[in-house]
Amino acid sequence: MLQIQNIRKVYKTGSLVQTALDGVSLNLRDNEFVAILGPSGSGKTTLLNVIGGLDRYDSGELAINGVSTKKYTARDWDSYRNHTVGFVFQSYNLIPHQNILSNVELALTIGGVSRRERRKRAADALRQVGLSEHMHKKPAQLSGGQMQRVAIARALVNDPDILLADEPPGALDSDTSLQVMDLLKEVARDRLVVMVTHNPELAEQYATRIVRLKDGKITDDSDPFDPDAEQAVHKNMGRSAMSLLTALNLSFHNLWTKKVRTLLIAFAGSIGIIGIAMILAMSNGANEYIRSVEEDSLQDYPLQITDTSFNLTSMYADSMAAAGKSASTEDEKSVEEWRTITNMFSGMNKNDLKSLKAYFESDECDIDEHVQSIEYDYNIVPRIYRQTEDDYRQVNPDTSFSALGFSGTDGSSNGLLSTFTSTDSFFPMSADEELFQSGFDLKAGKWPESYNECVLALSSNGRVSDMSLYAMGLKDPKELEDMINKFSEGKAVDDISEPGHYEYDDFIGIEFRMVSVTDFYTYDKSYSVWTDHSGDAKYV
Ligand code: ADP
Ligand code: MG
Repeated sequence: MLQIQNIRKVYKTGSLVQTALDGVSLNLRDNEFVAILGPSGSGKTTLLNVIGGLDRYDSGELAINGVSTKKYTARDWDSYRNHTVGFVFQSYNLIPHQNILSNVELALTIGGVSRRERRKRAADALRQVGLSEHMHKKPAQLSGGQMQRVAIARALVNDPDILLADEPPGALDSDTSLQVMDLLKEVARDRLVVMVTHNPELAEQYATRIVRLKDGKITDDSDPFDPDAEQAVHKNMGRSAMSLLTALNLSFHNLWTKKVRTLLIAFAGSIGIIGIAMILAMSNGANEYIRSVEEDSLQDYPLQITDTSFNLTSMYADSMAAAGKSASTEDEKSVEEWRTITNMFSGMNKNDLKSLKAYFESDECDIDEHVQSIEYDYNIVPRIYRQTEDDYRQVNPDTSFSALGFSGTDGSSNGLLSTFTSTDSFFPMSADEELFQSGFDLKAGKWPESYNECVLALSSNGRVSDMSLYAMGLKDPKELEDMINKFSEGKAVDDISEPGHYEYDDFIGIEFRMVSVTDFYTYDKSYSVWTDHSGDAKYV
């Protein structure tokens, strides 16, 4: 028995205040088929969500089996949603990559039910809605009415005490509507079904009670229920069932809409590369930092077209689908391959940048009118060294992390990987000088005037990264080596020293040497080969 007393629910969006429920009182029997009728925007969905525990009310009272939900903890709500109610959403909310058996089974996945039992229950639910023959089809291969029935099977698989359906016949043609209504009527024989609809004929024909809603108020009730007068039959609300569909549904929604971070982590975790991702994130810090300064200075996030690209969303969706997919064979003793890394690589695209550039530069392309500037990057990484009294150190590409297995941007790694792994401090300046300079305040010295001059980009709060300090020799690179060695040996790295402070003058006049890669090679006439001297300290 559900008792709703004087419930109010107001939505505030900006300055707009919308009263969705304006003092609704309604008592529902344990076993009836209630149709809620009302024009669009009258608060039907809101009422259903409040009943199902998907939405909170502002004031009033919702009592479930005589217990006020005012005292409900988050856990109580979870239990209510998971054990007592089943939801049929207007938009079906089926997972497209999975067949309908899996879709229904998913609502049972957590809860200590064996796989065999889950299969059986899902198949039973589908039989109940007349879809036995279609169990192995994907949602897209079904008609709207069939999808609707899958959604009902999914809501029923946990055998909930209450079934809530939001405009089930929705956009369906009338024949299909009638089938769905027959099904709901059948379902309502031994439980409470609350169905929202805007079709009065269907409501008249099938429901045992019609409640009309307008502007958030109940205007009519064909069969009111006074629990004090009638002695309700109490059912055990906590029996076998557990429809986590609703919770699941909401969390899916969150994943897709808001939490891009979660998405990334879930993606990495789902294909088992989370460990790699974390190390990458660490080594990426300095790089990202400088990059973000650059990007701020360009005001907008530049649109980059790289020779290799991939669609993270579709990769994520694929791996989710694969994770949830049941094996294609019924043989329980066989083990099927789950392609994680193969899918990742096959999901990457190659872009034809040469043709793109030719197009940009041709007369038929008017992109210049729409962009501030176009820049081309050839992934050429100059070798830059810093000389000390008796030694030298390669500062670009940065090799400090080679001990951890990263080669840095050695030019051979493709654009995609190097974005993830680069720890470099040197970046080409934008060719659009004015645009570049407008993003910064010049603090000391002058803007570079020649190809062999560098400028140090500080962060917006005037700081400089330790990676840059190592590169400039203002911090001893041996510290960095020690840290990396300790880390790779599994020892704790705890640095308790205070962050350093530097004068502008400290950065001015630092010299580096740029070496053309070809200069590392000499021709050896006796063997007719080119010899690489980059490992020969004396030569370098
Ligand atoms: P119905 O299901 O009858 O179409 P709803 O319950 O969806 O009506 O909506 C009732 C009123 O509350 C409408 O005016 C709607 O604009 C408003 N509303 C519903 N959900 C939200 C929300 N999440 N944020 C702001 N306003 C909402
Ligand atoms: Mg609605």
